[in-house]
Amino acid sequence: MTKIRLIQPWRRFAGIAQAVIIIGLPFLEIKGESALRFDVPSLRPHFFGASVWMDEFFIVLMAVIFLTFLFMFITLMFGRIWCGWACPQTVLVDFTDMIDKAKSKRPPYKLIEYAAVLLISVTVAANLIWYFVSPYEFIPKAVEGGLGNVTGGFWIVLSMIIFLDLALLRHKFCSTVCPYAKLQSVLFDNKTLVIAFDPRRKDECIKCMACVKTCPVGIDIRNGLNAACIDCAECIDSCTKMMGHRGKKSLIGYFFGLPGEAGELLRRNAVMTGSVTAVFLVFFIYLLITRTTVDMTVLPNNSYPPRIVSGGVINSYILSVKNKGRSGAELAIKVKALNSVAVVAPDRVSIEAGAMKKVPVYVNVVNSVKSKVIKTIDISIESEKPDTVRVTKPARFIYPEG
Ligand code: SF4
Ligand code: SF4
Repeated sequence: MTKIRLIQPWRRFAGIAQAVIIIGLPFLEIKGESALRFDVPSLRPHFFGASVWMDEFFIVLMAVIFLTFLFMFITLMFGRIWCGWACPQTVLVDFTDMIDKAKSKRPPYKLIEYAAVLLISVTVAANLIWYFVSPYEFIPKAVEGGLGNVTGGFWIVLSMIIFLDLALLRHKFCSTVCPYAKLQSVLFDNKTLVIAFDPRRKDECIKCMACVKTCPVGIDIRNGLNAACIDCAECIDSCTKMMGHRGKKSLIGYFFGLPGEAGELLRRNAVMTGSVTAVFLVFFIYLLITRTTVDMTVLPNNSYPPRIVSGGVINSYILSVKNKGRSGAELAIKVKALNSVAVVAPDRVSIEAGAMKKVPVYVNVVNSVKSKVIKTIDISIESEKPDTVRVTKPARFIYPEG
């Protein structure tokens, strides 16, 4: 007898792992901030230890482009694998399958099961909000009743939407509302991984209808591929059980392309989409690694025109220094002038985490009156460990007439 190997235990395991990650991630803190959260008041995304500012939004844009190409690539290669194995909607619907069973039960049981689903909806809605408001802030406020109208109102509305989705739509959500499901048909090609009935073995089908009865979206997979299929693999397991008793393999399975056709992983469109995805990933990582936590702009100080002093010329500048890091910074200000000695005052600035400061500085290029060669100087700020932070900007050095 053929050993019966079912897919559903692995799907359940993937669903539980996904739920643990999604629920647990907002509680994980790296360098004192949520591992993954978009902070609404400051409009700053926190991403595994890095906090991105509005003027660095190209990093977020790069992440969005990378994720878009990644989804395109995964869909092209593996079809609806996301829907069947990792989509939170599918996991939630599987988790609340008591709703389906409740329909045939008596009112008191029905009420208890709908109440349980309402509780799940409220928890899932809170979990979604934790990606915008830290759970360490949200939970104490919710307990005290001090969430405020916006957050509290959003929580109620979101809970009701999730409850109605779970109580009424369930798997219909995938074929009616989900935009990703609608896009998928254009992303597939004839070598994409699909769940299909093997027509070469159609004579072996005993017409038990187990595959049809188990299908959550009511498809008869024997009639061919169907856009409503969510890749849950329930039909594979049903047929595995039926055919397994007869010592045969399931008539339904995973196939790259149509059953009987040779699969081709390294096809041209897959290689191209995969390469573009890899390029955007590398670029995104490069941007994250090379971003500095301190930024500076240099402008002339209009309230202090250039002037000649004994032994040199003084120019004044306004340094706008921004600390994008999560801790305060002590920075040294340095000036370099070609073939000349330059002195700057003040030569230090301290700035709190997340703050911006305007610092007037005075640069004296010694003996510059005689030479009049200096046209541009370099102004730098650097932390105690020069490798950690160093920002250098050029500035025009002006000689007063006379
Ligand atoms: S045909 Fe139905 S049971 Fe089979 S994978 Fe698709 S949705 Fe699931
Ligand atoms: S479960 Fe298998 S044997 Fe039964 S009807 Fe479906 S394909 Fe045929």
